[in-house]
Amino acid sequence: MENKERPVDFIREIIREDLKNDKYDGMVHTRFPPEPNGYLHIGHAKSICLNFGIAGEFNGLCNLRFDDTNPTKEEVEYVESIKRDVSWLGFDWQEREYYASDYFENLYEYAVELIKKSKAYVCDLSSDEIREYRGTLMEAGKESPYRNRSVEENLDLFERMRKGEFPDGSRTLRAKIDMKSGNINMRDPVMYRILHAEHHRTGNKWCIYPMYDYAHCFSDSIEGITHSICTLEFEDHRPLYDWFLDQLGVYHPQQIEFARLNLSHTVLSKRRLIQLVQEGNVRGWDDPRMPTLSGLRRRGYTPEAIRNFCDRIGVAKRDSTVDMALLEFCLRENLNKRSQRVMAVLKPLKLVIVNYPEGQPEEQPENQVEELDAINNPEDPSMGTRKIPFSRVLYIEQDDFREEPPKEFFRLAPGREVRLRYAYFIKCVDVIKDKNGEIIELHCTYDPATRGGDSPDRRKVKATIHWVSASHSIEAEARLYDHLFAVPSPGEDFKKDLNPKSLEILLSCQVEPYLAHAKPGDIYQFERQGYFCVDPDSSGGKLVFNRATTLRDTWAKIEKRLK
Ligand code: ATP
Ligand code: MG
Repeated sequence: MENKERPVDFIREIIREDLKNDKYDGMVHTRFPPEPNGYLHIGHAKSICLNFGIAGEFNGLCNLRFDDTNPTKEEVEYVESIKRDVSWLGFDWQEREYYASDYFENLYEYAVELIKKSKAYVCDLSSDEIREYRGTLMEAGKESPYRNRSVEENLDLFERMRKGEFPDGSRTLRAKIDMKSGNINMRDPVMYRILHAEHHRTGNKWCIYPMYDYAHCFSDSIEGITHSICTLEFEDHRPLYDWFLDQLGVYHPQQIEFARLNLSHTVLSKRRLIQLVQEGNVRGWDDPRMPTLSGLRRRGYTPEAIRNFCDRIGVAKRDSTVDMALLEFCLRENLNKRSQRVMAVLKPLKLVIVNYPEGQPEEQPENQVEELDAINNPEDPSMGTRKIPFSRVLYIEQDDFREEPPKEFFRLAPGREVRLRYAYFIKCVDVIKDKNGEIIELHCTYDPATRGGDSPDRRKVKATIHWVSASHSIEAEARLYDHLFAVPSPGEDFKKDLNPKSLEILLSCQVEPYLAHAKPGDIYQFERQGYFCVDPDSSGGKLVFNRATTLRDTWAKIEKRLK
């Protein structure tokens, strides 16, 4: 893919070294291991690009593995959405779609092995007591009174746990490691808990479920993963990852940690995103303000833009926050190259060209119509041109007219001449107001000699504005977005920082007739207004657009400041 300029990061460095030393028989096998308890977000995209990207670059494989060990929080809906999002990003796990729950039997057998080696025991402490006994960073933990049960008793109790003889929370299976360890994760961590809950794949077969740390290392081992790449919070869990595998002497992948993505003006934690969805702060997981992949897709983000973003941010070993402006920059860069330009007026103001010939009454009740040529994409001449209808009554943007223009305002004003894009020079000759003094209509004259937008006498105008022909344009809704959060880093009480102005809805936009056949997912540049993606809410001829981003490049400014 687009990896030509990617700087070599420490993970790829490690992999090169391993390949040189033939560490895993020259194999590279990674995995992306989401827990199906929510929709994927842009942070996950970083991990997906890394794991699938590395597999692609080193002629290896990458598995999609659902880490489904937590039945009360997981759902099939999430599994489906995750598969859709990974494919959409452009990655293919081929037939390697795995589930930790497929290994429940193996994991159970491994646990029995560990009990037999006196490396695990059934503990009757409650979860509160376990926490109490665990100690703190400053203080060693206390051994559980159940720690020295005999192997036979442990085997018997563990089997009965599986059979469902005990209530939820009454017992756990714990690894027997070291309650005095400086690393709290090594203080006899819980391996299994009792939970009488139906699992979305295994149904009611199990009432004991393995904990993440225990399930993850063995899942990696079973799948023959070579490099198990995870985020920095798991650095302190690595000794435990290694310990489990070493006790049984099974195949041992290596865990490598990298810094997770943090993005300004949003939150990247499924726990928080779920809250926004469930409490109605957004319209759903795919609300275009959400940092989820489904939200970004609906907003108008392309897989290429997201992959480029992930390439640009790279991978490092230290946490940092990336400015949202960089993500937007990557989107603009991609859409600029590929998107069809059209004219659309978001806040229409009627404009009548008083000296424009009126049409034949029998064909056109009011207007003569002519067809003008417009360029589809100046960045890509192969995209050609299209015809746009021009007539006597137009709409322009309310913002493009000022009755009393301030100094720096070069657009339309009384007595002033501007260019209508692809059309003519026009001059404002009259301003029509309603009885409240609101401007409802402008009267202008046009200069027929300036057809196409050029003046033969080289007369200059200071502005070019966009427009649509009133009798041809289509009414549409536009949804304009701002950051979901009003501050760069939302605090602990993150909902307080939600941006009350994150969504603005404009119900009576007018777009050029070219868009009559636009379909959900299509993306256009509305000249001067930004990139807009057709929303799935469009139906029955009613078009709804999401503004993906404006045309302003705030990232360029930030970069300049940083330099
Ligand atoms: P969250 O914090 O959003 O709940 P998670 O780590 O619990 O995320 P998982 O489904 O377990 O979610 O994540 C799957 C993979 O994606 C893991 O390997 C995890 O390390 C990685 N991942 C999750 N969030 C990020 C992030 N912000 N940046 C990079 N990788 C991430
Ligand atoms: Mg996780």
